[in-house]
Amino acid sequence: MNAKKLLVGIMALLAIPAATAQNSPYWQQHVDYTMDVNMDVESFKYDGNQKLVYTNNSPDTLDQVFYHMYFNAFQPGSEMDMRLQSIKDPDGRMMNENGKSRIAELQPDEIGYLKASSLTQDGTELDYSLEGTVLEVKLAKPLAPGQSTTFEMDFTGQVPLQIRRSGRDNEEGISLSMSQWYPKMAEYDFEGWHADPYIAREFHGVWGDFDVKITLDKSYIVGGSGYLQNADEIGYGYQAEGVKQPKHKGKKTLTWHFKAPMVHDFMWAADPDYVHDTLKMENGPTLHFFYEDEPGLKENWKNLQEKTAQAMSFFSRNLGEYPYDQYSVIQGGDGGMEYAMSTLITGERSFESLVGVMVHELAHSWFQHILATNEAKHEWMDEGFTSFISSLCMNVIMDQGKDNPFENSYKGYFALVNSGLEEPQSTHADRYDVNYAYGIAAYSKGAVFLSQLGYVIGQEALMETLRKYYQDFKFKHPTPNDVKRTAEKVSGMQLDWYLTDWTQTTNTIDYGVKAVESTGETSEVVLERIGKMPMPMDILVIYNDGTQEIRYAPLRMMRGEKSNPYPNLSWTVMPDWPWAMPEYSFKLDRPKSEIAAIVIDPSQLMADVDRSNNLWQAEDTANKP
Ligand SMILES: [Zn+2]
Repeated sequence: MNAKKLLVGIMALLAIPAATAQNSPYWQQHVDYTMDVNMDVESFKYDGNQKLVYTNNSPDTLDQVFYHMYFNAFQPGSEMDMRLQSIKDPDGRMMNENGKSRIAELQPDEIGYLKASSLTQDGTELDYSLEGTVLEVKLAKPLAPGQSTTFEMDFTGQVPLQIRRSGRDNEEGISLSMSQWYPKMAEYDFEGWHADPYIAREFHGVWGDFDVKITLDKSYIVGGSGYLQNADEIGYGYQAEGVKQPKHKGKKTLTWHFKAPMVHDFMWAADPDYVHDTLKMENGPTLHFFYEDEPGLKENWKNLQEKTAQAMSFFSRNLGEYPYDQYSVIQGGDGGMEYAMSTLITGERSFESLVGVMVHELAHSWFQHILATNEAKHEWMDEGFTSFISSLCMNVIMDQGKDNPFENSYKGYFALVNSGLEEPQSTHADRYDVNYAYGIAAYSKGAVFLSQLGYVIGQEALMETLRKYYQDFKFKHPTPNDVKRTAEKVSGMQLDWYLTDWTQTTNTIDYGVKAVESTGETSEVVLERIGKMPMPMDILVIYNDGTQEIRYAPLRMMRGEKSNPYPNLSWTVMPDWPWAMPEYSFKLDRPKSEIAAIVIDPSQLMADVDRSNNLWQAEDTANKP
């Protein structure tokens, strides 16, 4: 074979994998959990057995898998500890009164740990090694596309003193806040493996059915992710109407059997002093509430129940039907954190704050536990979208009467821009220089992504986008492009510029009214683009006689227009503004002397970082309305 022939031969070999590699459709794995766990409530040690039926939906043959072993983060010298010690603005909850890492001070009987003691694949022993919070596992038998295999693990764990989210004896005296507590299969999806170490935050998981048995001291009341299967046998507020509380005589422990279908996480909490109330919603799920029986707390937690039902209805109506028959609001944890079919929130709060945290965490049922974005990579889709819909919901169910319910999100974003600490939203959630920049990028700038999208495509199109997004991507792992494509399909506009500039850069928006010039019986308005990020323009013109009109300059690269968001005002669609042109001018039919003011974006939904130049006012305003 001559050199040329050899080269052709090699090229032909290369061409085949290249052609298939190009074609990477969406897929996600599936895993069904069966777990049996024993908790010693005195030592906070537990052991368990876990059987995973794991299905490989990928086009690849797997020779390894990874488990998250999150509790190992709560050990001196862990990645979480070292990050805490090196970041400029560590989370105050994780520091002691001397400003030192609380993890660094944990004694051996106070740390968290989670270890495998045996692991098999279809009965064959496996090689594995624990690397911090991730268990790396070599398969005994490669797993071909479309095939299932069964992993069986025995594990032991210790619940850490509460440092962050999960743990024992939280500040409000809840004994067990059990989140991120079990060996959890890492997701392998169309983007590859997501075996992220537990450094600060954010979780990603594999969808599947959970069957969990928890055995612990009989005096403890358990709430959590699943439906209790042996409710009448357990009692404690779970039993059917008319069934008496069983006595549990002669027993030391009870075994609680939960099932949670199609979730990607499983949380539980337990305390001997929980009050357990339920509220069956009409045409909705049954809501469960677990809280300490304390004066000062009880009234708020009673009043919270109707608000939870209202919030549930609000989200189901505006986003899409809640797909489970149960949701539990549980006192525990160290603030508020969302889990499958449930939340852990601290309970000693004002009523407003208690409702606020419940609404936020409940909203996460949609933006995380049904639309399961990888929040480590796209934290703004999780926290931001949740903040957006929570603000809308709070405005309604708490009668807040705000014109712009997102005002605080805008303020937060502007402050971040002015601080000079902003990093693009596409930064990994663990990799921001400071926690502050993460927080604002994820929550505030993430909420503004949607409220401002409402400015670009119109409010009705925005809400339709969210409903379609839910319908098309529920029980999947949607990415930023999925939101963008949904908005494009609903609005008919092209929005790549919006997604790119807002989420992958720190480009800012700044438009201004540069001049208003007299041209005899008419006038000319000159606008300028000062910031780099493109935007369409709504311009309000106010005349001396009190009449008003809106001029609309679509952005050329949108290739479309929104409909009039101001039904009471005249709306004139002007020629497009091509982004590269630093200025844009248009004529008004009336002389300059009749113009009182010109305002860019009267809705203030566009996040213009300098609003001082958005308003032009006639110099002599003394006698004008
Ligand atoms: Zn959140």
